[in-house]
Amino acid sequence: DAEIQREAILAAIDNVAARIAEEKSYLTDLDSAIGDADHGANMNRGFQAVVEALDGDDAEEMGPDDLVKMVGKTIISNVGGAAGPLYGGSTMLASAELEGGITAETSVAFAETYLQKVQDRGKAEIGAKTMVDALVPAVHTYKKSIEQDDLPPLTALSKAVDACERGVRYTVPLRARKGRASYLDWRSVGHQDPGATSTLFILEELLETAEE
Ligand code: ADP
Ligand code: MG
Ligand code: MG
Repeated sequence: DAEIQREAILAAIDNVAARIAEEKSYLTDLDSAIGDADHGANMNRGFQAVVEALDGDDAEEMGPDDLVKMVGKTIISNVGGAAGPLYGGSTMLASAELEGGITAETSVAFAETYLQKVQDRGKAEIGAKTMVDALVPAVHTYKKSIEQDDLPPLTALSKAVDACERGVRYTVPLRARKGRASYLDWRSVGHQDPGATSTLFILEELLETAEE
């Protein structure tokens, strides 16, 4: 029921925030190679703010869609640069898909809309060495696993995490075409994309939470 879903969302947020905090310097190292060395700090600031925002009494009255919307809004107002609007804005806009609660169907819709909004805003195609390279295989695998292969959401999510991980590895040999890393042009080759990497960490924690 609604209360169980609320608890699950709060647990997921705690797990994601803890993981991002743990990986802060790793993400910053990745961003220092091909960016401005702030991706770890940006993501950590955002998710710490989310944990604080959801600590208040307001969160107790919220449905899944409004909770997720608040996550997005909080990220937008606490994270600047490329990541704030991409992670926060897309989460906020995709949250409407969860209006009827979280089901296999609405989670696919959420994932698809999230990806769509990232691409609407960032205009990155696959192969541009961005988070899109991690998201596209993850979202497509999740959708296919549920809609065509009729797998349970947990199995689908696990397959999506595997696909995401391959997407992250695929960013290494690419030449960046979007974001700050594109300023380096061919010198971005050989480095793993920070945004793709943090996207994988988030998905891993969603899976971890769902398994509990
Ligand atoms: P900034 O580049 O503004 O310092 P961050 O370091 O927090 O922001 O985030 C960088 C990440 O954002 C990149 O690793 C990449 O995955 C992602 N990114 C940057 N530009 C785009 C874009 N146009 N579309 C999709 N993702 C992007
Ligand atoms: Mg940066
Ligand atoms: Mg920056």
